[in-house]
Amino acid sequence: MNVNDSERIRHILKKKGFVDVQDEDKADIIIINTCAVREKPQQKVFSYVGRVGKGKKVVIAGCVAQSEGLNLLKKDKKVNFVIGTHQYYKIDSIFENCLKENKNGVDVEFSKEWKEIIPDINTRESKVYGYISIMEGCNNFCSYCIVPFTRGREKHRPFKDIVKEAEYLSYNGYKEIILLGQNVNSWEDKKEGIKFVDLLSYIATNINVKWVRFITSYPGYYDNELIEVMAKHRSIARHIHFPAQSGSTRILKRMNRTYTREQYLKMIFDFKKNLPDVKFSSDFIVGFPSENENDFNLTLSLIQEVEYESIFSFVYSPRKHTKALLLKDDLDMKVKKQRLYKLQEVQRDIQLINNEKLIGRVVEVLVVKRNPKKIDEVIARTESYRVVNFESDAKPGEFKKILIENVGPYSLRGKEI
Ligand code: SAH
Ligand code: SF4
Repeated sequence: MNVNDSERIRHILKKKGFVDVQDEDKADIIIINTCAVREKPQQKVFSYVGRVGKGKKVVIAGCVAQSEGLNLLKKDKKVNFVIGTHQYYKIDSIFENCLKENKNGVDVEFSKEWKEIIPDINTRESKVYGYISIMEGCNNFCSYCIVPFTRGREKHRPFKDIVKEAEYLSYNGYKEIILLGQNVNSWEDKKEGIKFVDLLSYIATNINVKWVRFITSYPGYYDNELIEVMAKHRSIARHIHFPAQSGSTRILKRMNRTYTREQYLKMIFDFKKNLPDVKFSSDFIVGFPSENENDFNLTLSLIQEVEYESIFSFVYSPRKHTKALLLKDDLDMKVKKQRLYKLQEVQRDIQLINNEKLIGRVVEVLVVKRNPKKIDEVIARTESYRVVNFESDAKPGEFKKILIENVGPYSLRGKEI
């Protein structure tokens, strides 16, 4: 979502005649679009501001801006403006009114309405896959998570606006659409009586792109209808990101996740039963307060049972505003790190074994870009988001059939057939 927010900011500013420069030294204004989900990326913001050269305006946007507000102006004199997650649509007037006149300021007010901005294709990260935000915010309040405080309560974008953006991307030759939100499967257009599964079904039927994806789905609702809709439409990619966070029901409860280990696994197996080629990815937090060896082993065994395509894993990071701050962060960093490495090792082995099964097989891939390090190679992705490298003069956006010859845990290599 941060990438998509940057696209929107770029869109607004380009319309006003600002120019996006690749070389930081040439910039007059630097906008830092920040993430507050863990402490480390937040700290990186300050070290980055420290390195910014003299004479430049510095604007901090995103979740750290929303969470810290005025503190950021106080903390470093180099910071000129702090703009929260709901105020991007005004960034052009902020630039014109404040920065030109050397006035500093903070705007971190939450707003209840959805602000409609469709980034044009020249301001987007890719011309192959396109992000479409369908909702923002979260009402789940998982005990460790700062998101409900930085993105606010859920706001759902109207159906007709989402469809308009999807049509725009398809018209411009995009091959893949990625519907975005903190909690996409709770999206609905109440006025029109349209639910997330109806939206997916509409896009899969009426929008001409090869793959439709969505991220992130909360695994706590029982999604029978989602299985049905996916089974009906082959253009909904057989890949779902379902963050489990932990394999221990005791820890899940303390995290305020609303499902048990058994419910999570049942849901996964129901998907697998009805959609034999579906693949999953997930997020995990290790070292949550009071996590013991048994809890951790339950997480490892869950990972082994599901056999994820890929995962993101993190050491628990205590965050401002959250309930978990009241729990004693009782584990040694050494233990947390050991658990993280162990978990990553288990996942690495699963990925390697899964990838090895593909040797000698032909997979269809979407070329995403030329490999910046090897000019005669391209980087492509499979439907389940595995990275495939191969020699080719194919252009981004082309689909190719690749015979897989070599694999590692994180990528595949092959040749065009
Ligand atoms: N809405 C998504 C998650 C969004 S945050 C969901 O419900 O799953 C992205 C990921 O960051 C989370 O899945 C979680 O694994 C991680 N995360 C969030 N807060 C964290 C914290 N305090 N410490 C460590 N990891 C955290
Ligand atoms: Fe955070 Fe996701 Fe939980 Fe919402 S559902 S509070 S975004 S982890």
